[in-house]
Amino acid sequence: MLLDIVQAGEAVLRATARPLRREEILTAETAGLIEALRETMNTAPGVGLAAPQVGVPLRIAVIEDKAEYIGKLPAGQAEERGRRPVPFHVIINPVLTIVDPGPAQFFEGCLSVAGFTAIVPRATRVHVDCLDHRGESLAIDAAGWYARILQHEIDHLNGILYVDRMKSRSFCTAANYEKHWKQLSVPEFQERIA
Ligand code: ZN
Repeated sequence: MLLDIVQAGEAVLRATARPLRREEILTAETAGLIEALRETMNTAPGVGLAAPQVGVPLRIAVIEDKAEYIGKLPAGQAEERGRRPVPFHVIINPVLTIVDPGPAQFFEGCLSVAGFTAIVPRATRVHVDCLDHRGESLAIDAAGWYARILQHEIDHLNGILYVDRMKSRSFCTAANYEKHWKQLSVPEFQERIA
């Protein structure tokens, strides 16, 4: 089932989401929510979607970065961003630990701030302890773009949007990013907006 993705300004995006109890994870209702999150993320398309983004204040998010998305990037960007395919998976009640604070500074966007993008400094390596869709413990060590996705989605569970962390002078419409900035390296872009 496709769900509506709520946009910045909805209170649920600024609330702290509630943890799921282990027995709650195994219910048909949670399985249905996960499937709907997956379908909604793939259709958008996006590489991550947190439950608050569909109006559900629970600590659950889905993530998938597909080779077909990465193949559409300008030459060299996948390597520069450390972006590699990530298979579909679910994170529930995640606890994030920064392993290497970096920061890596790249443009990112959000399905709940549709039509815009900005440079967001993020840690380059993180560790996440969480539960999976079966309620089993899952430990994730992530670097590069996957580490960015995890930080972005876990921020959603704490009522934080990327605009809280962005370099505000880099904020631009997605259309202008495509038109003027996409081919530039981040240092080149920062020089022009400094
Ligand atoms: Zn987002």
